[in-house]
Amino acid sequence: MTEVIEKTIFELSSPGRTGVTFPDPDVPRAELPESLLRADLPLPELAEVDVVRHYMRLSKFNYSVDGGFYPLGSCTMKYNPKINEDMARLPGFAFTHPLQPVETVQGNLALMYTLQEWLKEISGFAAVTLQPAAGAHGELTGVLIMRAWHKSRGDVKRVKMLIPDSAHGTNPASSGMTGLNIVQIPSDGRGNVDLAALKAACDDTVVGLMLTNPNTLGLFDEHVEEVIKIVHDCGGLVYGDGANLNALLGIVRPGDLGIDVMHFNLHKTFSTPHGGGGPGSGPVGVAAHLAEFLPSPIVGILEEADDEQPPLFGFIEPKRTIGRVKAFHGHFGMLVRTFTYIAMHGPEGLRQVAEYAVLNANYLLARLRGTYRVPYDRICMHEFVAEGRVEGADVHALDIAKRLMDYDFHPPTNYFPLIIHEALMIEPTETENKDTLDAFAEALIKIAEEAKTTPDLLHAAPHKTPFGRVDEVKAARELVLCCWLPENYNK
Ligand SMILES: *Cc1c(COP(=O)(O)O)cnc(C)c1O
Repeated sequence: MTEVIEKTIFELSSPGRTGVTFPDPDVPRAELPESLLRADLPLPELAEVDVVRHYMRLSKFNYSVDGGFYPLGSCTMKYNPKINEDMARLPGFAFTHPLQPVETVQGNLALMYTLQEWLKEISGFAAVTLQPAAGAHGELTGVLIMRAWHKSRGDVKRVKMLIPDSAHGTNPASSGMTGLNIVQIPSDGRGNVDLAALKAACDDTVVGLMLTNPNTLGLFDEHVEEVIKIVHDCGGLVYGDGANLNALLGIVRPGDLGIDVMHFNLHKTFSTPHGGGGPGSGPVGVAAHLAEFLPSPIVGILEEADDEQPPLFGFIEPKRTIGRVKAFHGHFGMLVRTFTYIAMHGPEGLRQVAEYAVLNANYLLARLRGTYRVPYDRICMHEFVAEGRVEGADVHALDIAKRLMDYDFHPPTNYFPLIIHEALMIEPTETENKDTLDAFAEALIKIAEEAKTTPDLLHAAPHKTPFGRVDEVKAARELVLCCWLPENYNK
């Protein structure tokens, strides 16, 4: 294996090289106070081309959706159309400031207002906030809204949130952050919420249920309406984790199912870039009875249009708002990208997105089910979960995932959901063609063969990447962020 030891920018430095030429100042030169100056500031000295090549080289160590297939289950790593980027860079969007008077940013506000309306139409909810920064933040917002609703009715006994055992870890985390007790609800033999267990847990101390549908097994809950009714019958509300909305676009509206509040992951369903911790966006939609609790402000129409004037957009405060959850108005650049994506697709196109996402996942499932065990094996939605082990071979899901990197594929999500042993969670998304799906299926089939004949090839994988297998636990626990500092750096 070749382990590339990357030179740091300090090691590339050579005295006298420079990448910038400062223009002559247009103000009189002045002496800086001695106290502000340092004799020793070991900044690297490099030409522009050295810096560009350094970072370009580093960027190639990263896998990206622009570089290859990225079937990371639950994360919906679909291709991000470049027109989204063009629109987000339009100066009228990119160079406005959230503190500008509303009269000067009517276009931005019209975009936000229209996006709120479109998300309402797509999801079947009565009102939407665009503030939350990501899905998990949307969950926190939604749970705070649920609590505020109970409280407004004088119903203060409710302290429990019900969460299925297949849920994403953010669900218990965001409920826990608001001080609620988490009650785990098991799944039944077909991967649905276990109705008997749900009934047993429902009483007048329940705030609600956090439901992911389709769930993280990629399965549509066969009793979703009954699940929602059981929770409503005990006075609880149903939170919808909307991370899997990609499977439903134009087909099912969560609001129509009776879900009370839900977050959207714009960076998943609506193709805004994610990965690497970049900004996401997690708007929250609510049914009519929760609209007045939304975070403040939301974009509204201050003066209706008439024959001479377009409408005047501005900010309005919901009557019993839970308050602000984000500085300014959310991640506006993501809103522009989402607006563009929805406008480019239109209703028919969005429905096709869901249909092809589901078709692609079922195609892969059909190609792989003979090779890998699929514990809850029924028609899947936009993703499915297989077991990452091979009969008679000593390999784990992690070995299979790492070996896929040698075939130039991003590994699927592994070891989640927790209820599946050695989970490999595969989400191809709609943007991949049949050739790519076939190549991926063939790689996984070949790896299953290798697991039996040359298992050490898997144990030591990946072999082709700049770095081999890293100790992920150690990397997380003992994160070293400043290894680039020169040894003699004056701390
Ligand atoms: C991604 C995801 C979340 C969290 O969303 P973020 O935008 O990453 O915070 C929650 N639930 C499910 C099922 C997810 O896939």
